[in-house]
Order: sequence, then C-alpha cells, then structure tokens
Amino acid sequence: MRPVRGRVRGRVRGPALRAALAAACAAAVLVPSAPAGAAAAPRAAGAGIEVEIPGPEHGGDAGSGHIRVPAAGARAKTAGGLSEAERAADGDVAKMIDNGPAGDRLDVVVVGDGYTAGELERFHSDARQKWDEVTAVEPYTTYRNLFNVWTVDAVSRESGVSGDPAPDAVRDTALGSYFWCEEIERLLCVDQPKVDAYVAKAPEADLVIVLANSAKYGGAGYNEPSATLGYEGISTASAGHPKSGQVAIHETGHSLGKLADEYFYAGVPDYEKYTGPEPAESNSSALTADRMAAQRAKWHRWLGETSPDGGTVGAYEGGGYFATGLYRPTDNSLMRVLGKPFNLPGVEAMIGGFHRHARTVTPLTPTDRTLRLRHTAKAAVPRLAGADGRQLLVRWYLDGRELKRFEGRTEVAVADLWLFDLRTHRLKVTAEDRTPAVRDPGIARTLRSEAQWQVRL
Ligand SMILES: [Zn+2]
Repeated sequence: MRPVRGRVRGRVRGPALRAALAAACAAAVLVPSAPAGAAAAPRAAGAGIEVEIPGPEHGGDAGSGHIRVPAAGARAKTAGGLSEAERAADGDVAKMIDNGPAGDRLDVVVVGDGYTAGELERFHSDARQKWDEVTAVEPYTTYRNLFNVWTVDAVSRESGVSGDPAPDAVRDTALGSYFWCEEIERLLCVDQPKVDAYVAKAPEADLVIVLANSAKYGGAGYNEPSATLGYEGISTASAGHPKSGQVAIHETGHSLGKLADEYFYAGVPDYEKYTGPEPAESNSSALTADRMAAQRAKWHRWLGETSPDGGTVGAYEGGGYFATGLYRPTDNSLMRVLGKPFNLPGVEAMIGGFHRHARTVTPLTPTDRTLRLRHTAKAAVPRLAGADGRQLLVRWYLDGRELKRFEGRTEVAVADLWLFDLRTHRLKVTAEDRTPAVRDPGIARTLRSEAQWQVRL
C-alpha cells in the first residue's frame, strides 16, 4: 500500500435524511443516502457505521442505498472461547497471491467467518475462487499482477453464520457475521473491531473482504476508510453465492474508484429531482451530454464511445439515487446493475485507484548505496495480463537523459553505461502505463513509477 493523501469523501449523508426517508419508504428500511454535493447533515456521533445494502438477488439494482449499522454487530453469540487446538490454528496469515512486496502492491486481505478449524482448507479454496471472480472483471483482469492477496484464518466455534437460513439462526463465529442485519435479509453485517483484529495480522491491507461460510445471497459495503489500519473498505460476501462476488466488486468501485452509484430511486419523495451542485464523483453529473461536451467536463472524453457494459457513453438521466437531474455515463454498468462490467469512465477511475496503491517499479538492487562498475541495477515491473498484450513502458535515464537502447529492459549493468568520468551519476528507471483506457490527463500523470540509483566508476 502507498500512503493516500488528501482523500476527499464525495458523499455526505446524515440521519436527518434517513429519518425523512424512513417515513417515506413503505418498508422503512431501504434508505437511500444523500448524493454527492448535498448539504452536509450532521453525523450522529456513535451512531454506528454506514454500509451500502446490496440490491435484491433478482432485482437488478446493484445496491439499495445505505444504512447505519452497529460497528460491533448485534446478533453475535458471545464467543465461548477456543480450544487449545483451535487457538493454534487461529490467526494464521498466508500470502495466497504473491506479486511482490506489500509496499508496492495493492494488498487485499480475505478473512473467513463461520469456518471451523476443520473447514479452514475450504476457506482457502473459497477465497481463491472469490478472487478468481473478481479478476474475471476488467480492469482487474488486466491489472491482476498489481495485487497481493492475503488470507487470515479466523477459527469459528460453529460452522456457518447467523441469520442463515432464517433470522433466528444464531451462531458463535469469529467475526460475528449475520444476515438480516437491520431486518434486511441480504444485508450481511460483521463485528468490525473483530474483523480489524484479524486484518491487523496481515501486512498493509488496502482492501478487506470478509467471506462468510454460506451460500445465501448477501453482502455489505463498509466504505469508510480505516483510520487505524489504512484500508479503504470492507466488503462482506457469502462464499457460496456467485452474485456475492459481484457485490464485492461493486463496492470496490466506491472504495478504490471513488465512483458514485448509478442506480436511483424512482418514485421516492426527495429523490425525484436533483437540484444540487455538480457532484464530486467522476461518473455522476448534473450536465446533459451537450453541456458536458461544451464545458469539457466529467466524462466528455468518452462521449459516443462504445462501452463494455453495452451501448454508447452518453448522459443517461437517473443516477446518484435521483431519478432526474443527475446523469450517468451508460445505461447499465456495474455501478447500477450486478453482473455487468464497469463502463469506460468507471474503468478509467478504477485504473487510477489501482495505481494510487500500487507502484509499477520495485527496485531489486538496493537504492541506498552507490553502484559501481561491477554492479547491475535491477528492477521488477509487473506484467499486464490484458487481452491486447500491452505492457508497461520501461525506460532508463542517466542524469535525466533517456538511454533509448535500454527501453523495455528490467536490468542495466553499470559497465554498459559507458561512464567516462569519476563523478557520481544518477541512473533512473521508469515504468509508465500508457493505457488507452485512461484519457484524463490528471489520472494519466499518476500512472507512472520510478526508482533511481547513484552510480560511479
Ligand atoms: Zn454502491
């Protein structure tokens, strides 16, 4: 992980809105959050954590708004204590996918819940399968080598999680996972302090996935960045339900891509027409396509292009929870509908998010001492795994001047630099991602890493 500076929270939500909507919604539970740019309502202290509710299993929508839930869960049975054998297995950390040092990679930490000591082996295969689901979706597929995936074994005394199959099923599990959170069947909540205690055992988590030992549809997006552990968010998912993985990917659209929801609430009072300022998120706008093009704003560089989720990029009315007054880039991207790909502006934002956490050059030769004639400067550069075969552009510079003959190489011998004086020189390698999937120059500038050494005869 890399330190993230100046994070901007695009969405502001508050209890006042929740109360208003609770009164308005027949079910009184599916509470849309305030959209980007809405007037800040005061956040009630100690009122729990805000999570995104996944959309219904057969309903199409990726989400059903947000709700505040107790940080420490609600239904968890008091842990009865582990046996000595169980304790010995508890807390083991393994690097399931190893693509390099944690400091240079996007580190995903998967913790299982509702797995007994005897089921840990299956937890590992479940974690691998869930990661395969994530990396089947672009741009994860192309950039899969920028990620490490860690598993942390959490031993539960009972198999399965609370609320499965019915609300009255209560199990003693390591993380206190439970369906029927806030009376919503598919909302799968956890005890966040317990999750954090396991996440802390793995190095430098950027993203956390809690995998419940269950085949019941559900999940939740905890997209508040962790102040103590540094991760961007927690997604919960049931291991045995294929749509749960899609919920988790949608949630990373918020946590990594800083994307807005592209779904909306038709017929919900207060969400019929958006009249606020331009939202902060890159995939939500109050501008029509014509005005966006004229003002060169938001996703104007993609207007008219064919998008992987189908159709062409335009300004489709409805999004950011509002039925009118806000526009989304395509009709049905993953930020609106589960099982779809990200749209072009979404892919661009996700790639920006990947590079925010991952470095594309890892020096293999130490950079803290001067390299001499007998030394070679070596660097590791991750391979991209996209269908087009495109790779990062690797270039070498001596005292700021490019050495064209070394382009594409990951090692250069000092002897091949043809140094002819006794001065100390600066040798630099850069790896640059020139993906056509990024058109915003502000993001493009961030798709580059470098390492440098001092060299002399
Ligand atoms: Zn969402």
